[in-house]
Amino acid sequence: MQPIQGIHHITAFASDPQRNVDFYHTLLGQRMVKTTINFDDPGTYHFYFADEIGTPGTVMTFFPWPHARRGTPGNGEVAATGYTIRPNSADYWRHRLTENGVTIGTRHMRFGQEVIPFRDPDGMALELIVSDEPATIQPWRGSPIPAEHELRGFHSATLWVDSAEHTAAILLGQFNYTFVGQEGNRYRYKGASNDIGVYIDLLERPGQPRGSQGAGSVHHIAFRTVDDTEQAEYQSQLRLAGYHVTDVKDRQYFHSIYFREPNGVLFEIATDAPGFLYDEPVETLGTTLRLPPWLEQHRETIENAVPKFNHPALAAQS
Ligand code: ZN
Repeated sequence: MQPIQGIHHITAFASDPQRNVDFYHTLLGQRMVKTTINFDDPGTYHFYFADEIGTPGTVMTFFPWPHARRGTPGNGEVAATGYTIRPNSADYWRHRLTENGVTIGTRHMRFGQEVIPFRDPDGMALELIVSDEPATIQPWRGSPIPAEHELRGFHSATLWVDSAEHTAAILLGQFNYTFVGQEGNRYRYKGASNDIGVYIDLLERPGQPRGSQGAGSVHHIAFRTVDDTEQAEYQSQLRLAGYHVTDVKDRQYFHSIYFREPNGVLFEIATDAPGFLYDEPVETLGTTLRLPPWLEQHRETIENAVPKFNHPALAAQS
């Protein structure tokens, strides 16, 4: 059984679907690789933004609820998501974000790398982290961003926790992460791939309140396994260790198990296979509403239930 390679995807709540698509696809240049619905709540969209093909470690996903109230950040959540950018892209991104009305927070250094903090339209904390470490993505050929400046997938996720110890026990003892170092109350751990999405930072905030989830909150973070066999091994190993792990859920593009770690963050373990090309070709990825076979018979009802939005890839062609 291989160690966990890194982050597979991160899933959050948003409010207005159009604003969500415009921000991630059009402004950040993260291709909308899948337009589907929440399989557990078919009246809600599930949007996926990633590199050209949805490489694990680049995939940010959203459940947009129009008019949703905002969440309040707190312990037991992924409180910030960092994307890698290359050193020669920092000025480009500062300019692009500012020009588009995005406020950039205070630049600072973290483990020797520059961090450029900002927020998405629902207030979710994002970071650009200037790094020349490996970050193998499939650049999106239709991107509004010049290829050299494209976001290079996830650098890290920062989890706010009451006590780092119990979450660290999972990362080190179950996932085979390695401890990188400590800066103040921030503890950094590294997954095995040495490529995208390898870092998890635990920010220890003892006694601070739990978050309350809403638009702009991360719902869960998913970690990578290669296939069903390896996922089953993780499922039984985690259950033996006393974690309450769900049965396998079929998410069409990957298969998933979930459990809540002791600080309250919802963890998922997802398979790399079969991936986002499973039900549509790379050229038109994400441009039509995809439904899993068991919901296809309800397509008309679902299409009438979900809010309308303009897909920027389609608008560009017409
Ligand atoms: Zn997920």
